[in-house]
Amino acid sequence: MNDVVSINGELFPLIEAKIPLLDRGLLYGDGIFEGVRFYDKKPLLHIPHFERFCKSAEYIRLSPPSLESYNHEIKKTIEASGYADGYLRIILTRGVGKMGITPTGYGKPNFYVIVTNIALYDKSLYENGIELVVSKSRRIHKDSFSGQVKSLAYLPNIICLWEALESGATEALMLDCDGYVSEASVANIFALMGNTLLTPSLEANCLEGVTRNQIIKLSSKLGFNVEEKLFKLDELLEADEVFLTGTGAGVVPVASINGTKFKIDRSKKIREVYESSIKDNCQAL
Ligand code: PMP
Repeated sequence: MNDVVSINGELFPLIEAKIPLLDRGLLYGDGIFEGVRFYDKKPLLHIPHFERFCKSAEYIRLSPPSLESYNHEIKKTIEASGYADGYLRIILTRGVGKMGITPTGYGKPNFYVIVTNIALYDKSLYENGIELVVSKSRRIHKDSFSGQVKSLAYLPNIICLWEALESGATEALMLDCDGYVSEASVANIFALMGNTLLTPSLEANCLEGVTRNQIIKLSSKLGFNVEEKLFKLDELLEADEVFLTGTGAGVVPVASINGTKFKIDRSKKIREVYESSIKDNCQAL
């Protein structure tokens, strides 16, 4: 079993793979991506990820591959890796041209499919909860760039994460430019208040996470009402429990935010229910 990548259809061991220096994904972050988990060689929540991939591509004026060729490359690359379970990083960049920011005059985009594994957080954090701090830097404003686009330019999120790490926490909580709770660096946030599951509405420019949507879908089975709205930090700090969701992260209980502590028992139950739903949401290619 090996980490592999398909570069425009050609397979390479990941460690040996090379991309051109002039790829605009490298020069300007001019590209988009998806991160997808797969189990038993079948991608989890495949179509929602593909749809978001297409929307991201269209926002930056790139033509996404057809579903057929997207599936073909993913299937081929998973097969070549030999992994049954793993993580896909699917990337589309504007490709290679001459130096300069002008985005016109490019030929075919570069399409990369990486098959590897990912573990965002240490196992103990799933048992004991993760510590968050609110970063000073804010989630990029929706009028600057849509939060629904998974662009390759993650520096704003990385800076927020740096701030959290420098203050001894493990994750950052980003507020939007008006001070409303938005999301963590690569995960959405939920708060449990009695029988209500509260999560920021997309107005806070948080990504419409595929895992977030899955938790919302599971909420009635879990016996919760869901409320999507704008809310501030003081309301969040009143919650009984808080947890994060994401493809890489899964469902992660939050132990504290800026030192305010939360229980984690029900969040751990939610994680179990989410994990038991995985099998039913994987799609053979
Ligand atoms: N927000 C951001 C900024 C992310 O990068 C991610 C990871 N894709 C998420 C939220 C969670 O989204 P998903 O559940 O689709 O992985």
